[in-house]
Amino acid sequence: MLSTLSARIFLLAAAVTLVGLGVLAWFMVQMHTRDLESEAVQGALRLSDTLTRSTRYSMLKNQKEDVYHIIQTVGDQPGIERIRVFNKEGRITFSTDPNERGKAVDTAAEACTRCHSVPGAPLTRLEGKELTRIFMDREGHRVLGLIAPIYNEASCSTIGCHSSPREQQVLGVLDIQTSLAQVDDVITARSREFMYLTYFLMLTIAGACGVFIWLFVHQPVKALIRGTRKIAAGDLSYRMPVKSRTEIGRLAESFNHMGGELKQAREALTDWTETLELRVNQKAETLRQAQAKLAQSEKLASLGSLSAVVAHEINNPLSGILTYTKLVRKLLQNGANPAQIPDMLKYLEAMESETARCGKIVSNLLAFSRQSAISTESADLNTILEKTLFLIGHKLELQGIALHKELQGGLPSVWCEADQIQQAIFAVLINAIEAMPEGGTLTVKSAGVLDAASEAMWIEISITDSGAGIPNDVLPHLFEPFFTTKENKKGVGLGLSVVYGIIKRHHGRIDVRSEPGAGATFILALPEKPAEVTGTPMPSVPEDILHPQDFVV
Ligand code: ADP
Repeated sequence: MLSTLSARIFLLAAAVTLVGLGVLAWFMVQMHTRDLESEAVQGALRLSDTLTRSTRYSMLKNQKEDVYHIIQTVGDQPGIERIRVFNKEGRITFSTDPNERGKAVDTAAEACTRCHSVPGAPLTRLEGKELTRIFMDREGHRVLGLIAPIYNEASCSTIGCHSSPREQQVLGVLDIQTSLAQVDDVITARSREFMYLTYFLMLTIAGACGVFIWLFVHQPVKALIRGTRKIAAGDLSYRMPVKSRTEIGRLAESFNHMGGELKQAREALTDWTETLELRVNQKAETLRQAQAKLAQSEKLASLGSLSAVVAHEINNPLSGILTYTKLVRKLLQNGANPAQIPDMLKYLEAMESETARCGKIVSNLLAFSRQSAISTESADLNTILEKTLFLIGHKLELQGIALHKELQGGLPSVWCEADQIQQAIFAVLINAIEAMPEGGTLTVKSAGVLDAASEAMWIEISITDSGAGIPNDVLPHLFEPFFTTKENKKGVGLGLSVVYGIIKRHHGRIDVRSEPGAGATFILALPEKPAEVTGTPMPSVPEDILHPQDFVV
């Protein structure tokens, strides 16, 4: 409830009104009580004075009966509790209450304490408030007591009715007790009236404050909150009604102004975004066209360079064939004699080898650029590996190369075109053999490796030779078509390009590790099932097994 500003202002106003009016009412009641009591005291003083004056003559005449009669008559008036006369010894010589007459009171009695507060030295003169006292009677009503000392006048001693010496100043005391019950009734009635007035004023002020706060604070603040929520929700066209020129009215105006500015800013931003989008699209289109042109020219350039390499590679054997053909034709035209037959056979042999070389180049180029989909089957890589090793067995023997095999049994089958995988393994094995012309050790391993990222099983075949290794400057060019370091036209430079094409089409990868002088290792890895079968992306190669210049297909 106290969470709203209006509620807090209202509670504060109500509390201040309650306390303020309460304090005011209390002061008023106190003042009124004092006035009434003062009036009662004045009345009692007047009564005492009247009584003293009316009995003076009878006292001088020592006519006690007259004195007591006057006192009794006055004492019978309503509102007067009792009137007593004390002599100097403290004996009640007369009282309107007959039971008290003749009784003695000591100086500690309630009526005597004013003069006898100091033992043995009674006061002879009392002034103003010292004459009065207020106490409770047996019925619980307040009673106003008034002490009127009876002084020893000169005329008293001359008429000889008192035996008291002239020095004695006080002959006795007149004690008048008037009831304050009526005064108290009036005070109670006034207090009640003040209380009702306070309640009424409090309710009126609180009600007026409540209505004012509700109309001029609560409602406008609520409208402001509603407006800010609408703006925050994106309704920037929302405007608040401005009903007054107070601070809240001005706040509503500022709010509307802010809403307008925000709307303009948003429109400008939207325009700008649309323009930007349009420009980005235009630029993207220009870029796409430029990219397409670049790709086209790159294609043409690579086609050009490939054609140049192919032309060069085929031109050499072809020009050799042409030369030998001319030689053979010349020999035959000149009427070939039997002694020239060995030469002719040599030329024909060279023509045959050069033609075979051309055929090899063309068939490898076809294998490298083959785009048709491979027809896969489930095959065991160990079986393919054994078959290929059997094919090169004779070569190993001839070159004095020891074969070391570590094939892991029970490997899962892979989806592949077995002939092509055999061709790729064969090419890598032939390179390894050619890297060890003086003999050495060929290590062939197979193993299943679980790729942690994709949780797919990969089958790896590693072929390690103990040859000269691959120089660092050669590594980046290994898979380029027609790249070879083999002299005497022994190499065509298409072996690894073909391997690259085959493994790529099988969604596999090739890792190469080599330290110059420490042999080379080629790792061919194939997934247990290709991506299109498993539906999972190809796993990446763990970084730690890659040399910076390694190749990953
Ligand atoms: P080619 O065998 O006809 O030269 P390749 O594409 O098969 O063509 O090989 C390209 C080059 O890669 C080779 O010329 C050779 O320099 C290098 N190479 C391939 N395998 C090995 C290996 N095991 N050891 C050293 N060098 C190798």
